[in-house]
Amino acid sequence: MPAARRVFSGRSGQILSDVSDVVRVHAGISNLPSVPTIQVCDDCGHSLGELDPRLACPDCGGLLSLAHDAPDVRGDALRARLDARLDDARPNYVAGGATAARASGGWRFRERILPSVDDAAAVSQPEGNTPLFARERVARWAGVSSLLLKHDGHNPSGSFKDRGMTVALTQAKRVGARAVACASTGNTSASLAAYASLAGIPALVFVPASQVALGKLAQTLGYGARTLLVRGDFDDCLRLVRDGAERLGIYLVNSVNPFRIAGQQSCVLEILQQLAWDAPDWIALPAGNLGNTSAFGAALRAAKSLGLIDRVPRLLAVQAAGAAPFAQGFREGFTERRRVKADTVATAIKIGDPASWDRARRAIAESDGVVTDVRDADILEAKAAIDAAGVGCEPASAASVAGVRRMVAEGVIDRDARVVALLTGHVLKDPGALVEYHAPDSPRPLANAPIEVDASLDDIARVVDRLTGAP
Ligand SMILES: [Zn+2]
Repeated sequence: MPAARRVFSGRSGQILSDVSDVVRVHAGISNLPSVPTIQVCDDCGHSLGELDPRLACPDCGGLLSLAHDAPDVRGDALRARLDARLDDARPNYVAGGATAARASGGWRFRERILPSVDDAAAVSQPEGNTPLFARERVARWAGVSSLLLKHDGHNPSGSFKDRGMTVALTQAKRVGARAVACASTGNTSASLAAYASLAGIPALVFVPASQVALGKLAQTLGYGARTLLVRGDFDDCLRLVRDGAERLGIYLVNSVNPFRIAGQQSCVLEILQQLAWDAPDWIALPAGNLGNTSAFGAALRAAKSLGLIDRVPRLLAVQAAGAAPFAQGFREGFTERRRVKADTVATAIKIGDPASWDRARRAIAESDGVVTDVRDADILEAKAAIDAAGVGCEPASAASVAGVRRMVAEGVIDRDARVVALLTGHVLKDPGALVEYHAPDSPRPLANAPIEVDASLDDIARVVDRLTGAP
């Protein structure tokens, strides 16, 4: 693997948002190399080259972020460039090689993702271009007049993780990785397995034994990743894979990988583009490991500074009540970092010690955001409402909509606010949760149990009469 390249170091505690900032801070240093992207430590400002495979600052252990050189245009001109690329996303193409990247709703925003990669070098399915659903009955359930559902479960492997994984696997190829690995509650492993297969790189996945939804585990196996069921929880998996990666020479694509965080920014940029760059009042999203909250914050910061939007929407990060250290921290004014033993039906956000805590805290502060939590019963009821609207999502996704309902009820979100809620995973990701909710003896408020009938038309006629309200 390439050795670390000390490009330049930052002043302690300073957060640098792009290369121009770095250059301004270090104006006294001559002979700066001309690079579009560097990796910068969040904590101390130490910088690594774009192709350095390490995932933490070698000086202080802090997390790394990508800093790109500012694009040559901004405002109207940048909007026009991004909108012109929508022509490439029409489905009249064969998806393979460079055409996939051109059609991708991730690589469309390459100026903010990874500018130096050309179409042929991107490992793309393609991904993104996910729908923004208006469903009145879901809005009514949440108690808000304008609610749009950004459904990132419509990505190739069925979750938002594909937006980050296309960039991470592209990077894995660029650094010549012999294998890639991640720890995951499920969606990440499914996405990694799919993109590693596309890239032709062997993949190793660490998942907590007996804690992963069936659909996700099945995908991971099907796409061909070597799957290790670890007798422990997600936090044990994360520690193992972090400790092991450097020693074994494996490229790690966990949520702390800065290339994944960069890729996840495309979701917000796509939402803004779908709304003709007229930002909503609120964007609500499920919050577990806080990688997405961090990415959303970074994307909004960039969209504002590049003149793509006039004002920043407020973020609402929603945790499950049984896995809500960040919500607890928010209520306490973030005086200290909290950790809990996570317990929730929403396995994708069942995380007790979120990795991206500091970045997410910054995202909430900068967007005048709010963090809340919702009970499992509310998550499942929100999910049933979303499912019954013909949209469908996995349990963790529904936390965003359940959180909107709570915030409307508490008067934090106005009833006439324009709200976008992110759905992170497809309804088939967790078939077990569906079958249990709608079981014949289910006490759940929106349960739709199957009806057993005799093989006779009379029986079926009675069901049809009840269904259509006949007397
Ligand atoms: Zn550092």
